[in-house]
Amino acid sequence: MNLYIDIGGTNTRFQLDNNEVIYTKERDIISLLDRLIAQYPIQGVYISFAGQVRDNIIYSAPNIKIDKLDLNALYPDIKFRVENDVNCAVLAQSDYYSCGDIVALYIGTGIGAGVISNNQLIKGSRGVATEIGHIPFREAPFVCGCGKDNCVELFCSGGAIKKWAEYLNGDFQKLDELPKDLYHNFLEAFLYSASILVTLFNPKILVLGGGVVESNSFLVEYLQKNISKYAFGASLDGLEIVQTRLDNAPLLGCKMTI
Ligand SMILES: [Zn+2]
Repeated sequence: MNLYIDIGGTNTRFQLDNNEVIYTKERDIISLLDRLIAQYPIQGVYISFAGQVRDNIIYSAPNIKIDKLDLNALYPDIKFRVENDVNCAVLAQSDYYSCGDIVALYIGTGIGAGVISNNQLIKGSRGVATEIGHIPFREAPFVCGCGKDNCVELFCSGGAIKKWAEYLNGDFQKLDELPKDLYHNFLEAFLYSASILVTLFNPKILVLGGGVVESNSFLVEYLQKNISKYAFGASLDGLEIVQTRLDNAPLLGCKMTI
């Protein structure tokens, strides 16, 4: 039996073989694994993880407290495959659209990108290529999970809305409740991130997903209308900007990391 787990910045969901997807509040990956391994004859575990992953080892997660974690060493009788969650998402999107030049930009607790270029998932030498959330945008009065204070993620993410609300003692929780200047910064940071991805990777499809996009579908149209403001013109030829049609792309994609 195989176990598939998606550990996002806020939510965890898992699936045993092709059974129904189960949502859980559990954030401790070890206790979740111990519980399920004791209950089911699990031989393989595929994990989509919101953080830095290289060679199936989890190194860090800006939005989840975790240090270096080698699950293959902890559970030697089980085969583990672990991949970054947005990398998993873009694998699923690439399969869904039959497209080998595709970028996934997900905005949830954080903001992250996965890129498949010429049918190849772009990972970089340390597995952290395409970490769009941590490129500099402008200074914030608080620090990001990565330790810097100028990341795009501090302006354009679900976590950013929370951080600004705490900092300003404001009672806003959603994008459309943000004060005018923060709302403007959110859209600018979004446009900036998407334009950089399109300019650098020249995808055929840019697919948007994640909790913040799901509850603010207007972001798709906003990007279609405004991306030419920042992106390199030639990279826009034939570009399609779409909202994900897959409910659980990270969970679907972790099955493809064979
Ligand atoms: Zn950062």
